[in-house]
Amino acid sequence: MLQVDRINVFYGDIQALREVSLSAAASEIACIVGGNGAGKTTTLKAISGLLRPASGSIVFEGVAIHLLLPHQIVQMGISQVPEGRRIFPRMSVLENLHMGSHVPEARKKREETLAWVFGFFPILQERSTQFAGTLSGGEQQMLAIARGLMSRPKLLILDEPSLGLAPLLVTEIFEIITEINRHATTILLVEQNVQRSLSISHRGYVLENGVIVLQGEGKELLKNEYMMKAFLGM
Ligand code: ATP
Repeated sequence: MLQVDRINVFYGDIQALREVSLSAAASEIACIVGGNGAGKTTTLKAISGLLRPASGSIVFEGVAIHLLLPHQIVQMGISQVPEGRRIFPRMSVLENLHMGSHVPEARKKREETLAWVFGFFPILQERSTQFAGTLSGGEQQMLAIARGLMSRPKLLILDEPSLGLAPLLVTEIFEIITEINRHATTILLVEQNVQRSLSISHRGYVLENGVIVLQGEGKELLKNEYMMKAFLGM
């Protein structure tokens, strides 16, 4: 479904990604793990059109998207949930969700999609008239993911969804991600929570200093000696 092929991305003179290649097949969860500053967010921004690679290509369902604009990429069926949630605190939960369905195709199916999304997040239905800023951190993360789903994406990209959440909520968020994936949504996940994210991923990539240093099936990577030493404290 998604094929990133040898992209190089720069911020001015600084090269943030070097020959990065990765892929996600339809209905999979793929994840990119790595430490601070490894280039995870940069990779996601290149896919969603916020950064343009200096070279290399990004192909989604057979179409080269690396020269398209972000809104065109959303229309193709890619939705990105940014790190740090970026919800609108002075708007209601429902208004925040409506913001996610501005693409014409999605707008037509708004009510149906809303019911589908509330199925994953019943708490958001209960709180639909509340200001989003009054939600807890975990609920705000749920709202950010729910908003991302409102465009009915084929590929949902999640940037650090577990960041800053209490352990119980982390468990809940990973369960919900798995559940969303079961409903035929392909997921590309970026995480610092290596253990949790690889254990739910069909495919994993390890990024270090802008280079993919390791890749493989999620659970297999967890058994990799280098991974155990570098990321899992074993
Ligand atoms: P984190 O988990 O801390 O968000 P990350 O893996 O997502 O890390 P990126 O944010 O992609 O890493 O950053 C990759 C590299 O690019 C880092 O060295 C970072 O300092 C640099 N970088 C990121 N954004 C910019 C920018 N706007 N201008 C210059 N350099 C940047």
